[in-house]
Amino acid sequence: MMSCNCTNGHETGCGNARAEDLRDPGRRIFMATAVAAGAAATAGFSVTAAEAAVPPDRKKFMEEATRLAVESVEKGWGGPFGAVIVKDGEIIGRGQNRVLLTGIPVFHAEITAIIDASTRLNPKALLGSEYGAGTILEMIPREAGSVDPVPERARMLKGCEIYINGAPCPMCMSAIYWSRIDHLYFAASLKDTSAIGFDDAFQYEDFTRPWTERRIAVTENFERDTGLKAYEAWTNKADRHPY
Ligand SMILES: [Zn+2]
Repeated sequence: MMSCNCTNGHETGCGNARAEDLRDPGRRIFMATAVAAGAAATAGFSVTAAEAAVPPDRKKFMEEATRLAVESVEKGWGGPFGAVIVKDGEIIGRGQNRVLLTGIPVFHAEITAIIDASTRLNPKALLGSEYGAGTILEMIPREAGSVDPVPERARMLKGCEIYINGAPCPMCMSAIYWSRIDHLYFAASLKDTSAIGFDDAFQYEDFTRPWTERRIAVTENFERDTGLKAYEAWTNKADRHPY
């Protein structure tokens, strides 16, 4: 059993994210909803090089990610993908692919691990309220040398690592960026993943192309003025909380 690592006074142990939690119907419904909401979290990026060496004491985290992946396969829940999120040497989030179980195409291991970790560190996440000190929406200063245009951002999962048994797809890689996770460890390569029939690699290629040359038809600037009304609402909201 991992012990709770955070200081938020949770009733449940933060480090005890387990498969039982995900089997809970209420939690599953939440996870499905939250994952669907997160599906829009995609952006352009490039593949980065993996770290040359993984410290031996961290191999256990990859083993756990892989255990989750194998379980997903054996139970018929989804593809062979599992992920864990680690903070201060403790697992605070677990995820596994549940696409076949749910029929939700974005129910990937990394997304569910991020949601699991975030809800444990930030119990008010479900309500979207109380984003003061002690939650992952607490503001922290921009890092030295950052190209971020604003001076501070919400903490999110800064200070955490993610371990995935296979290279992340673009959706999950983008979710990792949004989460501000510090370090990504993945085992199998995109090429390995393609070899078993999951073609994530083409999406990375597609992201490098102009909108009009994507594999999916894209209509740019469609009713732009209409869409910008929501941006105005955000800009005009005096008490908005940046993140
Ligand atoms: Zn993914």
